[in-house]
Amino acid sequence: MKGLCSMRVIFLGLPGAGKGTQAAAITEDFKIPHIATGDMFRAASAANTALGEQVRKYLESGLLVPDDVTISVVKARLQQADAASGFLLDGFPRTKPQAQTLDEILSELGRPVTQVLYLEVRRDELLRRLTGRRVCSGCGASYHVVFNPPRLEGVCDRCGGPLTQRKDDQPEAVAVRLKENFERTQDLVKFYEGKGLLIRIDGEQPIGHVYDAIRQALRGASV
Ligand code: ADP
Ligand code: ADP
Ligand code: ZN
Repeated sequence: MKGLCSMRVIFLGLPGAGKGTQAAAITEDFKIPHIATGDMFRAASAANTALGEQVRKYLESGLLVPDDVTISVVKARLQQADAASGFLLDGFPRTKPQAQTLDEILSELGRPVTQVLYLEVRRDELLRRLTGRRVCSGCGASYHVVFNPPRLEGVCDRCGGPLTQRKDDQPEAVAVRLKENFERTQDLVKFYEGKGLLIRIDGEQPIGHVYDAIRQALRGASV
């Protein structure tokens, strides 16, 4: 089981692919921090910090936050003590410069990425998922009105918090996000394929099956 405690994993996938849903379960199983740039930016924006002011307009429109800002946030996060024994990056990297800088940061720390899981989902399914997504304003958990409803409508199963719709899950921002991310994701897939780190996961299966496939991929790669 040695490899399991040093998992340094990236989840790649377009908006709505299921990264957040799967990352929540996997990081709980393996007791590693879930580092999600989108969650970090939303928290900063809600708290009106300087970072929040800087990134709000990008989040709301669906555009990517500039690389220098994003990279410095992740760099600081990876230097925290809890990331020393592994981590799961969800939503980062999203651009080639982010991926290259991440490589540099992690090789300096002597802790390279161990697996990159690419959750593959087609566009029409992404649209169905994003438009029906509801998120908990307390803990950030992700639900879907049809595919993954909470036990009690509008209420988070995990923390009892109220569920809301993200502003960027409205059709206009969804279109921007898919456009922003489509080619960049393909580039990152090639980048990590070239390094022999990429594992493709059929993300269109039901949530439990995707979870099993991810568990199997991580187990296979870490023994
Ligand atoms: P991402 O973090 O990649 O943007 P989420 O994990 O938030 O994606 O999932 C997007 C939406 O799709 C959510 O409403 C979620 O409940 C739903 N979802 C996630 N995985 C699946 C799946 N395998 N099948 C159907 N719906 C899913
Ligand atoms: P999803 O995976 O559902 O698109 P996220 O929560 O990961 O959503 O991201 C929400 C928003 O946060 C993005 O639309 C973008 O504005 C910003 N963001 C998140 N991660 C990055 C990143 N790696 N680079 C640039 N911007 C990012
Ligand atoms: Zn919650």
